[in-house]
Amino acid sequence: MTEVSFEDYSNLRTVIQTARKLLLLEDEISLFDEINRIVCDELGFSASVIFVKEGDIFRTVSRYSSDPETMNGEIANHIMPAKVVDEIRNHAEPIGNLFWLDGRTEVIQNSIQSFIVPTPNFDESKSGWHPLSLLFAPLYDRDGELIGLINPDDPKDGTLPSAENSLFLELFANYCSIAIELLRARTNAASRIRILEAQRAQISRLFETTAESRRQEQLNEVLSDFARMMAEAADFQRIVINLKEPDTSRLQLRASYGLTKAEEEALAINATDLRQFEPLMQPEMAIGGVYFFDHKRFSLPDEVWEMLAVPERTAHEGDDIWHPLDSLTIPLFDFDGDEIGIISLDEPISGRHPTASQLETLEFFSSQCEAAISQVIKFQRLERKAQTDDLTHLPTRNFFTLQVDHTIERAIQSGQKISVLFLDIDKFKHINDTYGHLAGDRYLIACADIIESFAPDGTIVARYGGEEFTLLLNDLDEEGAIAEAEKIRGSIESMSIDASEGGEIRSTISIGVATFDPSLHRHRFRSLATSDLTVALLGAADKALYKAKESGRNRVATSSFEP
Ligand code: GH3
Ligand code: MG
Ligand code: MG
Repeated sequence: MTEVSFEDYSNLRTVIQTARKLLLLEDEISLFDEINRIVCDELGFSASVIFVKEGDIFRTVSRYSSDPETMNGEIANHIMPAKVVDEIRNHAEPIGNLFWLDGRTEVIQNSIQSFIVPTPNFDESKSGWHPLSLLFAPLYDRDGELIGLINPDDPKDGTLPSAENSLFLELFANYCSIAIELLRARTNAASRIRILEAQRAQISRLFETTAESRRQEQLNEVLSDFARMMAEAADFQRIVINLKEPDTSRLQLRASYGLTKAEEEALAINATDLRQFEPLMQPEMAIGGVYFFDHKRFSLPDEVWEMLAVPERTAHEGDDIWHPLDSLTIPLFDFDGDEIGIISLDEPISGRHPTASQLETLEFFSSQCEAAISQVIKFQRLERKAQTDDLTHLPTRNFFTLQVDHTIERAIQSGQKISVLFLDIDKFKHINDTYGHLAGDRYLIACADIIESFAPDGTIVARYGGEEFTLLLNDLDEEGAIAEAEKIRGSIESMSIDASEGGEIRSTISIGVATFDPSLHRHRFRSLATSDLTVALLGAADKALYKAKESGRNRVATSSFEP
């Protein structure tokens, strides 16, 4: 092959212009067909075949000849093992980026011949090209991996390819590599978007029902489904979702995936605090919205290690190998930018550090999750506001009744006793009449504060009506409830507030107690709706209150619950 001297660049220009059109093609087969057509029609070869690498074989995916007669059926779906391609490259004579192997060489005659489809209808008189000669223009991906081969057959003029044509073929093959790479990236991106869109629709359906739900448990169920979807989509084995309790920085475990029962229980008991996660979310660990704690690059204070559930696994060391001490943390924010929770992830299935596309998937899921949770929180806040009394800021009667419903349901399951207190300020009308309604209001607020301050954790206190309050005490029998009622009664008796025109305002309170013991009347509970039990329980407490008033006020009375 001779030195290239370009008298005229028009050929080169044609090749480049034709090649640019490759970038517009939308599927691989059209792209390969067009590449073959250009090799024949523009670069002057008699036929051309493209092999694409699939694992450890190369398979023909497209063939073309300007003379259809010469394209025999054998070449369709022809397979060459990658080992054979390697052997060809090892023995070939490089022409720039191309490989040329003469059909008469020993390696072809002895070992490779059976893998080659000889040039059909070959005219021996014309050229130095042998029917078994091979010319390969390699196609590479961006990492330099061989992904395929353009395999032109003999030049139409019958000779060996000219230096000029070889150079054009080489340039053209580079262009083809880029076109294939771009098309594959576009196809991948498009299918990723389709998958993400489908997942987004699935997630919003998941959360839609929750937004209108009063029950916290339902949000937990939805979050569990969500945790599983997120883990599966991003290829992680373990995930924990913690949400912040309203108006505190305490975190509550709301859902997890891939944890053992024991691990989950340990995490649920160890109530954590948002601030404890700060060391895991240092700016230098951030990759987008995800924080990657790489134990080799960062360190953590001991108390953070205690809080984390580090799985007991054999550690493998390596540059991008995931280590049991590594973790991923994603903070969740509401619409106002306030932190509402944390998603923690562990153990990528690959056993390696997360890839860019895994991180992207995680960001997508966490943004869906935070939007949905914000929506739920906003709804619950509005609902709480609608169910809160403006004067005392206590929940209203409506909210209280619903809570009694739920608590009775749970008590029937668990067998725990629950008690209800009905409280009514004594001679309250007299306070209004003597000191005015505003003073009456202040006295009501003071009573509400005292009742609330005496309520054990988990108790629900409500303003049931005008100067009437109710308490729902979990897991307390009648005796315990009476003791609780006595504390409140005594405290209100000794409480006074200043009257605006001097002097002090004092009163007392009467309290009725009723207890629901699921172990009694079990046969009756089965036939009654929960709401009937609620009405009966509140009725019993009201009857007890009436007794307390009747017998002189400022006292605690009980009435037995008869469903
Ligand atoms: P008893 O010991 O029998 O309960 O007597 P009482 O005066 O407390 O009972 P009664 O039901 O006759 O009167 C309750 C009064 O509470 C009547 C009502 O005007 C007053 N009240 C209800 N809601 C409010 C309120 O929000 N603010 C004020 N200042 N008064 C209220
Ligand atoms: Mg009253
Ligand atoms: Mg009263």
